[in-house]
Amino acid sequence: MSEAFRALVLDQTDKNVSAEFKNLTIDDLPDGEVLVKVRWSTLNYKDGMILNGQGRLVRNYPHVPGVDFAGEVVSSTDTRYKPGDEVILTGWRVGESHWGGYGQFASVKADWLVPLPGGLDASQAMAIGTAGFTAMLAVMALENQGVSADQDGEVLVTGAAGGVGSVAVSILSSLGYRVAASTGRAETHQYLRDLGANTIIDRNDLTDTSKPLLTERWLGAIDSVGSTTLAHVLSEMKYNGVVAACGLAGGPDLPATVIPFLLRGVRLIGIDSVMCPYETRLAAWQRLTCELPKDQLEAATTKIALSDILPWGEKILKGQVKGRLLVDVQDC
Ligand code: NDP
Repeated sequence: MSEAFRALVLDQTDKNVSAEFKNLTIDDLPDGEVLVKVRWSTLNYKDGMILNGQGRLVRNYPHVPGVDFAGEVVSSTDTRYKPGDEVILTGWRVGESHWGGYGQFASVKADWLVPLPGGLDASQAMAIGTAGFTAMLAVMALENQGVSADQDGEVLVTGAAGGVGSVAVSILSSLGYRVAASTGRAETHQYLRDLGANTIIDRNDLTDTSKPLLTERWLGAIDSVGSTTLAHVLSEMKYNGVVAACGLAGGPDLPATVIPFLLRGVRLIGIDSVMCPYETRLAAWQRLTCELPKDQLEAATTKIALSDILPWGEKILKGQVKGRLLVDVQDC
């Protein structure tokens, strides 16, 4: 089969990454068990890094980026999938070490796919995408450690107006938690209240790392910022509080001490959506179908054409994107 299609192709010369929209054919795709016609992808923070050649996430060029996608199976050598099945993919280093969702066709391993959950259409599933899936994993991690909505206290979400943060605020609120949303952008305060935040915290109020323990404030926290923000949040956790660490939008360092762990029994749980096992994936997608209000998902989603993605890749690295960016891959 040699159908032609459009894709964003990254290349590297002298450590400089360049991006160009090209016509490819199915024969150009890497080996895979399932050929998928890609309908939707998204722009996550990691995509922004990849588009801008940051973090050495891509080792081999030329490369088609896009860390997640939703689409329809065209052909499959694996009996779990047949032509016409709707599928979603997040993680497994697709869009990093394997060509991803910024092409109109993708060839992938069957194990990497999840059937589109009943109750979501493909555009809703991708509006959730990697960031929303990660937010749900973070909520599940808090619950696995004993955090529940009937306990006294607020759950803090940092980087709240971003992709992971917006979905986390929305899920927590719909589950009945009291939610504090931290943001650096005043213009997003009403947006975050509409998603269900009870309290808005200025990002600058979460930067003091001079003391290992501060007044106890948070029952749980979902952090996508890292660095001084995460260090500060650790020092404000209530006794036995749980922090789900998702990201590093503020930097990869962690200028913290062990004191919150020793004297307050604080637990710090890392969230990895990339290599997450299949059963956990299914459970998370099932919960996203039931527990994430669809009207809020829509309010948190901006649709863009694949052909417009490059400037958005720069914006997300500057913290200028609100909520989720759904990419129309056929619009290219
Ligand atoms: P977004 O850019 O959509 O959101 C990040 C948010 O963090 C911004 O909107 C901003 O929120 C805040 N922020 C940005 N820069 C800074 C800064 N310098 N200091 C403090 N706050 C800042 O990204 P995503 O939500 O897609 O991803 C967030 C992080 O989570 C990334 O590091 C990403 O790589 C990681 N991630 C990890 C996954 C995993 O499996 N562990 C999966 C998905 C994402 P505001 O304007 O509200 O302050």
